[in-house]
Amino acid sequence: MIKKGLLIAVSAPSGSGKTTLCRNIVSSRPNTTYSISATTRPARKGEKDGRDYLFLSRDEFEEKKQKGEFLEWASVFGEYYGTLRQLVENTRNEGKDIVLNIDVQGASQVKKRCPEAVLIFILPPSIGILEQRLRNRKSDTEDEILKRLQLARTEISKIDNYDYIVVNKDIKDSVDKLLAIITAEKSKLERMRGEIDASCRA
Ligand code: 5GP
Repeated sequence: MIKKGLLIAVSAPSGSGKTTLCRNIVSSRPNTTYSISATTRPARKGEKDGRDYLFLSRDEFEEKKQKGEFLEWASVFGEYYGTLRQLVENTRNEGKDIVLNIDVQGASQVKKRCPEAVLIFILPPSIGILEQRLRNRKSDTEDEILKRLQLARTEISKIDNYDYIVVNKDIKDSVDKLLAIITAEKSKLERMRGEIDASCRA
């Protein structure tokens, strides 16, 4: 029988380097998939439908929501974002681990619906450094930067819902920590029970 894959949800304030870290986890581990979310926000330059997100109209998103197709969904900066239940289930049932890059509202829904999920929060080294990173991106207006910083404080206040915290000072060090967390989670007794051969038991 195929062992169900791990569900790993990663959250972080905008500008913490979360997407880079999630993509790195997936490229560093075999049998690990990045969950492509659905969103109503317009595609940014360089983003591709089906690779970065599934870009939907509000009506299309609403319809999927009504039909219960989302494992979780949330409104972030006035746009909808959601994880398709079927995609997660199919991936896990194939024995593959799946990484969800989702906000704090979504992560708390995931924990309620899938208590076995592993929730990881990426922290910036400080709010000052986060502000600096947001400014260096040069992609947001002053107003947007202030809104992102305010949201960051609210998100950090939800940290108690998470199982692990990684402070992202250095990408390589953070990727190593994330991989170590996943390895440890996969070695937990509950997840290994099926592998204890009868001949190894007393
Ligand atoms: P961005 O628009 O910058 O790609 O993402 C904005 C925020 O939405 C990020 O915090 C990201 O993690 C979150 N997000 C992306 N996809 C999902 C999703 O499927 N569900 C939830 N709850 N949040 C998401």
